[in-house]
Amino acid sequence: MTVADPALVDEIRARARVVRDRISRAAHASGRDPAQIRLVAVTKTRSVDVVRAAVVAGLTDLGENRVQELQEKRSAVPAATWHLVGRLQRNKVRHVVDEQILIHSLDRVDLADEIQVRAARAGLVQSVLVQVNVGDDPAKGGCSVHRTGELVAYAQRLPNLLVSGLMTVPPLTPPGNDPPRNAAVHFARLRALRDEIRGTVPTVTELSMGMSADLEAAVTEGATMVRIGTDLFGTRGEPEYRGTKETG
Ligand SMILES: *Cc1c(COP(=O)(O)O)cnc(C)c1O
Repeated sequence: MTVADPALVDEIRARARVVRDRISRAAHASGRDPAQIRLVAVTKTRSVDVVRAAVVAGLTDLGENRVQELQEKRSAVPAATWHLVGRLQRNKVRHVVDEQILIHSLDRVDLADEIQVRAARAGLVQSVLVQVNVGDDPAKGGCSVHRTGELVAYAQRLPNLLVSGLMTVPPLTPPGNDPPRNAAVHFARLRALRDEIRGTVPTVTELSMGMSADLEAAVTEGATMVRIGTDLFGTRGEPEYRGTKETG
């Protein structure tokens, strides 16, 4: 294993400090404890060198949206907890069933069944978040709001699944609207749904919501995990872009 580039580590550490300050400020402003908010560094499209530097810079939770990329980076940089934040296909489930991985994108029953089969075979309990399409955006993955309770209840009955919360990616902001304000409505909706479901399934506590453009709104609305890529590693595109299509 090669060592991390010190200049890169410094740069990421400085950016992480700014992001953590933003989380702290938003948390304090809404009477929350910043320690209750986990920073997931989304490393999709970034090189293994960047991932390695991120870990040395103190980022312990790393997120990827594609299974193959997650596997490649995880085998190169084994230290972190990984988060699968992109759409998951049944035939890839076996690669992400692991105690060190949190799956953020459970959105249908057949996927829950497959996770159950693979987790039972591996002898572990797989932690998952149910992804909710809060904006009913046809371009986004996730379970519809009115089906979420049903899916959580189903998954929670499977012995090798632990549903620990909900995740969402809000729809794109309509032109002329303010992105954080647009997102806040959807974040509030996810929180209300979590509160409702938690009444019957107490393990459902996490709220994975908020990206670079709407981090503060997410923290204000109760996020327990924010997923940050651009503001930690720069704009995806150059020099690292490998043509990975965004999902979510
Ligand atoms: C890419 C991605 C992120 C990070 O987005 P940034 O705007 O770069 O911070 C967060 N969540 C999901 C699901 C993503 O695909």
